[in-house]
Amino acid sequence: MPPIKSNTLRAYSPGKLNLTFDILGDLPGGYHEVETLMQTVDIEDELIFTFEPASEFSIEIASIEFAGSKADVPTDQNNLITKAANLYTKNFDGEKKYKVTVQLKKAVPVAGGMGGGSGNAAATLMVLNKWFDDRYSDPELKRMASQLGADVPFFIDGGTQIGVHRGDVLSKVNCKSELSYLIVGPKLFGMQTAEVYGAYDQSKNESTPRIPADKCAAELESGTPETIGKTLGNAFESVVFARKPELKFIVDRLSQLGGICTRLTGSGPTLYVLTADAAEAQSIQSKLKQEQQSGAYGWNEHSNLTLNTWIAKSTSRGVRLIN
Ligand code: ATP
Repeated sequence: MPPIKSNTLRAYSPGKLNLTFDILGDLPGGYHEVETLMQTVDIEDELIFTFEPASEFSIEIASIEFAGSKADVPTDQNNLITKAANLYTKNFDGEKKYKVTVQLKKAVPVAGGMGGGSGNAAATLMVLNKWFDDRYSDPELKRMASQLGADVPFFIDGGTQIGVHRGDVLSKVNCKSELSYLIVGPKLFGMQTAEVYGAYDQSKNESTPRIPADKCAAELESGTPETIGKTLGNAFESVVFARKPELKFIVDRLSQLGGICTRLTGSGPTLYVLTADAAEAQSIQSKLKQEQQSGAYGWNEHSNLTLNTWIAKSTSRGVRLIN
């Protein structure tokens, strides 16, 4: 007897950090040409897909739970899960139809520059491809992913990769060892990614230094956390910190508390501290909490700031699928 197919598939989609992020120029269609070295970390959203036979294909986000702060995530056609499912099934003709319901548990901070929504979109494509017996090849799935967003293809394999063009033309990097981070997510009325690009365009000048991904890749391959730290950077930092001085304040405090370096991921507002090991990340986490509670070192002037913090490590994988 063939095995009975479960009607539930589960996926875990991680968040990413931009260890480097640079803008090289403009691309046709109003896009920016970027070069970024991305790294998945072990903070993961959980997505549970349930399939029931139906007369037509439909997908519904049945529930969203938040491990951290509650956030604004659409449950309608604007959810990236729904968009991914609609794109995946666009050319279906005569296939068995299903009503798909999704339970989403968010752990990756929303709209924080960690690509949580993009990871969810990649997970949806992969789950549907598994359900529909690998209808699309890996390159076809990645092409579909890049139509959903520049960061989506990265999450299919995850790990350590350099993205060029819109960030969606990818090459893998060998990362010698697992790295430890303290991730700090301020609850800030965020700036939209498009707004940050606009601010960057207005502020850039000839003297803006390059943040080369290949230098970082070379250190990840053979260096130490200290030498890796010297190669990290994000072209958005100056414009984001200029508009959000409270973020710059947090960066300055974190630098005083330890770690190798503190950087912005994506267009923020999430920050990460590269640390020598998990113990150092924990020590900075507790010192940060203590000094915030004490109100000292300028915290009393930022008493309305809420910070979520996570101890994280780098991983070599992207979306994980489980039956
Ligand atoms: P980007 O840099 O692509 O804007 P991000 O990493 O900063 O992404 P995401 O968590 O991916 O942030 O969310 C970006 C936006 O997408 C938010 O406004 C959020 O409401 C919306 N969104 C749509 N679908 C999802 C989803 N499944 N999970 C999280 N956010 C989603």
